[in-house]
Amino acid sequence: MITLEKVCFAYEHEVALRYIDLHIEKGDSLVIQGPNGCGKSTLIKLLNGIIFPSEGYYFYKDHEITEKALKDRQFAKWFHQQMGYVFQNADTQMRLPEAEVRERTEDCLQLFGIEKLRERPPYHLSGGEKRKVSLACILSLNPEVLILDEPLAGLDEKTQDMLLTFLKDFHRAGKTLITITHNRQLAEELGT
Ligand code: ADP
Ligand code: MG
Repeated sequence: MITLEKVCFAYEHEVALRYIDLHIEKGDSLVIQGPNGCGKSTLIKLLNGIIFPSEGYYFYKDHEITEKALKDRQFAKWFHQQMGYVFQNADTQMRLPEAEVRERTEDCLQLFGIEKLRERPPYHLSGGEKRKVSLACILSLNPEVLILDEPLAGLDEKTQDMLLTFLKDFHRAGKTLITITHNRQLAEELGT
């Protein structure tokens, strides 16, 4: 379902990904581990269509994912619905055009029937609450693939247990899970 062929990515002064080959089938649960700075977050930004290979190819369900392909509004909408990404830091804004952000936010608010909370600033929510809200928003779009960057960090035990149960169910339902984590127990529970 997801194929990377010889993918490279370089920031201005830093090569972050070098010739990555990766194949993920529908229903796989993949755990990505590695030291700080090894390129985990970069890989995830690329899978999510926020950045694009400087060399090599990225295919999702036989579509090549390029900046040009995602300029097509219909295609971008489909792709972003398929690919759910929960941020490591819920305060970080995805680098999407403002109109796109507005449209997605509107979709979430409507789906949850919480349009009235539109003007509530996110800084009035706790870190854990923000994470729950962002996860709920993403799940409301019924993604095919869920990408998580350290999903348990900063959550209380009860919420951690809830999330772990949910992730296992999500995987059991045949969905694809990609998790970055340093948490050994989580890696063991989710790795296949
Ligand atoms: P990880 O998530 O595994 O800690 P990253 O993907 O964030 O690693 O970073 C990979 C490399 O790219 C690191 O050397 C980091 O310094 C560099 N890097 C990450 N983001 C940027 C950026 N926005 N601009 C320049 N270099 C970056
Ligand atoms: Mg990172």
